[in-house]
Amino acid sequence: MSDPIARPGLAPRFWETKPLERMSRDEWEALCDGCGKCCLNKLEDAETGEVALTRVACRLLDDATCRCAQYEIRHQFVPDCIVLTPKNLPDNLYWMPETCAYKLLWHGQPLADWHPLISGDADTVHRAGISVRGMTVSEFDVHEDDWEDHVIEETR
Ligand code: SF4
Ligand code: SF4
Repeated sequence: MSDPIARPGLAPRFWETKPLERMSRDEWEALCDGCGKCCLNKLEDAETGEVALTRVACRLLDDATCRCAQYEIRHQFVPDCIVLTPKNLPDNLYWMPETCAYKLLWHGQPLADWHPLISGDADTVHRAGISVRGMTVSEFDVHEDDWEDHVIEETR
């Protein structure tokens, strides 16, 4: 089957044959479905290690596009924003969304039909209700002590 997205330099269905650690930067970046879930603040239970997702978004998340407003220079504003790599992926799986392509591929699972690499349309992640578009509040507007009032269930 051919890759529905015409992206120069990306082999058709590369994610099905190429291990994560051998992907080029373009291939790695193309795996991101643009859901925006990883840019939501989480609450971690100190005793159980359980992670709860909140709708309180990082200051740089654009709620309309679900993209980082300053992706290339984001560390100037959010120094602790994680740069996900094949090497640090295992350590981060515990908090990552269940629908995240990096997590799915790590577990040997396929990408869903709504993933832009499958559908050929970046909007399908929103239309399928997987993204956080239109449902976040900025961390500027909610004090950290009140994040627990904004806990949400992940959409899958
Ligand atoms: S959760 Fe995964 S797929 Fe969704 S925006 Fe974050 S890195 Fe991309
Ligand atoms: S800095 Fe950008 S990529 Fe990092 S969590 Fe915030 S919005 Fe997401």
